[in-house]
Amino acid sequence: MNKRYRAALAILAICLMISGIMLTACNKAPGSEIPGNTNTPGNTPDPVTAAPTPEASPTIPAPAPTPEETPDVAEPTVPDPRPGHLIRTDYENFLPNESGEIPIIMFHRFVEVFEPGMDKEFTTTFSEFEAMLEKLYEQGFRLISMKDFIECNIDVPAGTMPIVFTFDDGTEGQFNLIEENGVLKVNPRSAVGIMMAFNEKHPDFGLKGIFYVNMDHGNNTFKGAGDLEDRFRFLLDNGLELGTHTWGHINFTTGAKTADQITESIGRNQEAAYSVIPNLEFYSMALPYGSLPKDKDLRAFLREGTYKDIRYEHKSILAVGANPTKPPVSPDYNPEYIPRIRMQGIEPVAQDLTWWLPKMTADRMFVSDGDPNTIVVPESRKDRVDESRLNGKILITY
Ligand SMILES: [Zn+2]
Repeated sequence: MNKRYRAALAILAICLMISGIMLTACNKAPGSEIPGNTNTPGNTPDPVTAAPTPEASPTIPAPAPTPEETPDVAEPTVPDPRPGHLIRTDYENFLPNESGEIPIIMFHRFVEVFEPGMDKEFTTTFSEFEAMLEKLYEQGFRLISMKDFIECNIDVPAGTMPIVFTFDDGTEGQFNLIEENGVLKVNPRSAVGIMMAFNEKHPDFGLKGIFYVNMDHGNNTFKGAGDLEDRFRFLLDNGLELGTHTWGHINFTTGAKTADQITESIGRNQEAAYSVIPNLEFYSMALPYGSLPKDKDLRAFLREGTYKDIRYEHKSILAVGANPTKPPVSPDYNPEYIPRIRMQGIEPVAQDLTWWLPKMTADRMFVSDGDPNTIVVPESRKDRVDESRLNGKILITY
């Protein structure tokens, strides 16, 4: 480049010694041969046509491509697959806090109509669920997957708050398939069916959630049309996740006195899952009853272990009660006992989701900057981030 530039200058000097007509011809020739000639320092971009920086126009959705991903001008840009996605860097204006808390909601049973004799605490009607989705959306919550939670890969629009949905026990109200004209489809009157319809109306809410299953329930898990493989594949193909809830819904406090009992209840569940889908590896576990072994030395087997030739490792272990969790970058985050908030049942109880909702405000919750690659916190909360837990994310304070 330099060499070529010097050559061009030499030619230019020769040209200056010749006639005016010749000069014009020479200027044109070398200029067209120098790569990037139009971007020389003297060529300042036109301020009217220059692309605005994210700082200059915070309200324009900016997918923030990394330098390597910046598309060539001549190539068509790939549309952002995240509808309504927005990254902002004018932090003072919307006060992101990515050290704040994240609610992980726990669902159990869903019914069309509540009937006497049904469990009152863990049963929700579909209409209550629909109303709750609206409330969460209105309040600024957006769904993230368990995997993204574990990795603190928070990919929700700037100014919104991440939330995780978890479903225990594999009940049919959570999800089931129906057959129509020989085709399997989701039952619209199931939590997944309702979430899919809601996501069509509000695509930026997201369709995420993890279902913790007991493989000993066999074909009764998500009971309905199709077989277990059809049901699991439908969930996975739609970006939903499966986790383990143990073989036999074991109570680890009263029912597990030895390491073998623990590894068997977990390993057998994993083994049965592999027999349905060969690569269905459970990376997250919901503790049945929120129970922990009394013997603290045995708790390491909840995290990882081996049963026969089945090895398992859980990146997150979910409890039952009763508050939002610290985010994975927090020094107080404990992946081995992550609190959850229960969805309100027919009878409200203290610390259920309805109780928490008015308390889950932006001043205490995780408020995203929209960029999954950065962790943005106010300067005053810098100590609320453990830098060894950043998982490759860039810490930004303001
Ligand atoms: Zn359960």
